[in-house]
Order: sequence, then structure tokens, then C-alpha cells
Amino acid sequence: MSDLAPADPGLAPADGEVSPDGWRHLLARALAGVPAGAPAPAVWRALGEAGVLRRLYRDGNALGPVVDPARLGDLLRTVDARGDNGATLSVLVQAASALPILGSGRSGGAGRSGGSGRSRTAAAAPSPVAAAHERVLAGSAQVALAATDEAAAGSDLSGLGTEVRFEDGGLVVHGGKRWVTNARSAEFLLVLARRRPGRHFTDFSWVLVPAATPGVTVRPAATDLLANAATGHIGFDSVRLPADHLVGANGRGMAVFARHMSTERLAGAQWAVALTGRVLADTRERLRGRTVDGEPLWHNPVVRRDFAECLVRVAQLRALSEDLAGTAAKGQNLSAGALLKSAVGLTADAVLARCAQLQGADGFAAGGAQTVRAEAAVLGIGGGVTELMLDSVADMSEQLLAELRT
Ligand SMILES: Cc1cc2nc3c(=O)[nH]c(=O)nc-3n(C[C@H](O)[C@H](O)[C@H](O)COP(=O)(O)OP(=O)(O)OC[C@H]3O[C@@H](n4cnc5c(N)ncnc54)[C@H](O)[C@@H]3O)c2cc1C
Repeated sequence: MSDLAPADPGLAPADGEVSPDGWRHLLARALAGVPAGAPAPAVWRALGEAGVLRRLYRDGNALGPVVDPARLGDLLRTVDARGDNGATLSVLVQAASALPILGSGRSGGAGRSGGSGRSRTAAAAPSPVAAAHERVLAGSAQVALAATDEAAAGSDLSGLGTEVRFEDGGLVVHGGKRWVTNARSAEFLLVLARRRPGRHFTDFSWVLVPAATPGVTVRPAATDLLANAATGHIGFDSVRLPADHLVGANGRGMAVFARHMSTERLAGAQWAVALTGRVLADTRERLRGRTVDGEPLWHNPVVRRDFAECLVRVAQLRALSEDLAGTAAKGQNLSAGALLKSAVGLTADAVLARCAQLQGADGFAAGGAQTVRAEAAVLGIGGGVTELMLDSVADMSEQLLAELRT
């Protein structure tokens, strides 16, 4: 990262056209000046100021911006290499789902997000949603995505209780969200709320709630894990907002969410590959240096076989994420996201548990392999638990089997 060339290879002006090498160079340069362990908002700001976030999304469809999957993978690998899982989770949730969902609610909905804000004329003031989107893209603010509800299990999303009512020409948001990444650092909260009773997918809408609005309270989640993700629980006590804080069309909340959850699931797989690869490399180095009766542990056949098994699992996950990247990023069908997130759940914990065991007592050091393993458990819980994903895979088994035969 220190031997940056003076010029950016393959980097064109602000139109977002960047070669793969130019993109990696841009990423490295963006984060080179951010000290290790810096607060996640500083990481986000650096990415925004360097133009990384503007160039992450290629084009859009009716449900909002579509991420460039290869760029997203590079972004997560670069952020993961900093070894701060809380910061990576913070970036992942914003880049893969919160920011695109916010982008889906700008006037006009679809379209390129790259560079649009800079060229905006003063003819019309941007809507609050467009203004928030611009601030988050620029890196000067963070956005939290608040879906998991106080009133229902996270695995029962359509049972959520937080409601949005139209009253006196404005909106009233009432309820509570829990375990929200960036809750304590975000200026903007993107809240999934019900607009009427029921479990139909048209019963829900997204609302943009500035965190400083009267009636909003944020409490830290009681955990030492993923500290830099600023996770918290959020209360909404009859929070009043102008009507233009509705994000996208009323009742499109679940449709937009489903589309972008596939991207978040792809991002989870990309992060899992980066994280497990990093921990495997560290474990291998330790095994090569650790001797028992004069022989490096790396030469022990049981150790080698277990290590190789882990490596094969990660290589399989990487192949699957590359295969499904385009489909997942476009949110074309739900099976890509379900397959990816199931595979992450089946891979990451098994690999990280074996690595932690192979590091012996050193794995218990502060921030060591045992902590990494506990933090990485979020990959099998956040955004949908592994069991629920496997349930979806079983539901779609007929279609998936047909695809295997073609
Ligand atoms: C660090 C962290 C960050 C998070 N960030 C966010 C965020 O930014 N925004 C947000 O909205 N939410 C966030 N979440 C919440 C997360 O999405 C939920 O925790 C998740 O959806 C699971 O919901 P739950 O915790 O209520 O578990 P439950 O739904 O209560 O499930 C508990 C357990 O029951 C089992 N189970 C559940 N369903 C099934 C099933 N169908 N079949 C078999 N077993 C099942 C599983 O073992 C599961 O772990 C975060 C969570 C964590 C831990």
C-alpha cells in the first residue's frame, strides 16, 4: 500500500470508468492515511472522499442502484485487510444495502449514482432523501439500516411492529429496532416500517429518520464484539417527520429490501472469503513456526489434512460467490442470495473454529482467532440466520435442481 504510483493507472475522471487495477489502486490510496483502529466513520469518510463510494454502483433499475460486484469484493477485501471486523461490518451494511436502498428513493429512483450530486444544478432543492444519499455517498455521513424489530424475531421480518402513519400531512414513526449496525454513529436511520396491519409484502415502507429527530433514542448493544460497528437499539416514540421522508413508493419497502438483500448476501460471502483467507494465512504461518519434538506442526499429517479441508471450503465459497455475483447484485432472483448466505453459514464458522483451535492458547489473546471467530458468527446471523436460508434453499429446491441439470 505504500508504493503507490504517482498516477492512478486506468483511472478516468468522475464518470466512474476505472480499470480493475485502477480501482484497487484507488482503494489502497483511499485508506492508506486512515490509522489502524480508526473509528468506522473515518474509514467511511475516506472512502467517500476518494470517490470510491460513487464508483461502486454501475447503473440502476426500477428498484435502485446496482452495485458492481467485482468492485464490492475488492472493497471488502481491502477493508478486511485492516483486521477490524467492526469497521468491515459497518462498511458492508452501508455499501451493500443501506446506501442502495436510500438511492432507490431519490426522485426518479433508478439511474446512475456516480457523480450525480456534483453536477446537480441549483434549479431545484434536492429532496431530503436525495440530500441524505448525497451526504452518505460523499462519506460525510453514515446511514444505518434498521429492519430487525423489537416486536418480532428477526427471522420473522413480516411480523415487525414498528409502524409509519400518515397524520396531518406528515409521517409518524413509532416502535423500536434492535441490533442495528452503525446505530450509534449514523446521522441517518433507514427504517423499515409497516404502513398497515398484515404480512403482505406491500404492507411495508422505508422511512428516512434523521437520528437527531425528537423522539429518537439510541442505546448501545451490550457487547464487546465488533466494537467499531457501533451496534445499538433504537426507539421511535411517535417521531414526526415531513411526508417527503418516505423512501421510495409507499408499500414498496419489502420489494426493494428483497432486491438489495441479495447484494448484502453476496457481500457477506465476499467478506467471508477475505476473512477466512486472512485467518488461514495467519494460521499457516504459525503452524510453520511452531515445533513439536523438533518438527513444525505444519508437517503433522492431521494438521495438514484439516488445513487443506478448510482451504477447499473457502475456495468453494469463492467459486460460488463469483458464479452468482452478477445475479445476486441485480437481485434477479432470491435463490442466489439464499444459496450464498447458506454457504457462508456452513463455511465460515467451521473454518474459523478449526483455525482458532490450531492456534492453541494464542487464539485466546485479545483480538485473537477466538475473538475473530465469535465476531464472524455475525455472518450466520445478521441479515438472516443460516437455518432460515437453508429453509429457503429447500423451498427452491425444484428450481435449483433443474438448474443443476442444464
Ligand atoms: C452484530 C449484529 C449486527 C446486526 N446488524 C443489523 C443491522 O444493521 N440491521 C438490522 O436490521 N439488523 C441487524 N442485526 C440483526 C440481525 O439481522 C438479526 O439478529 C437476525 O435477523 C436474526 O434475528 P434474531 O436475532 O431475532 O434471531 P431469531 O429470529 O430469534 O432466531 C434465533 C435462532 O433461532 C434459530 N432459527 C430462527 N429461525 C429459524 C428457522 N426458520 N429454522 C430453524 N432455526 C431457526 C436460529 O438458530 C437463530 O439463530 C444485527 C445482528 C447482529 C448480531
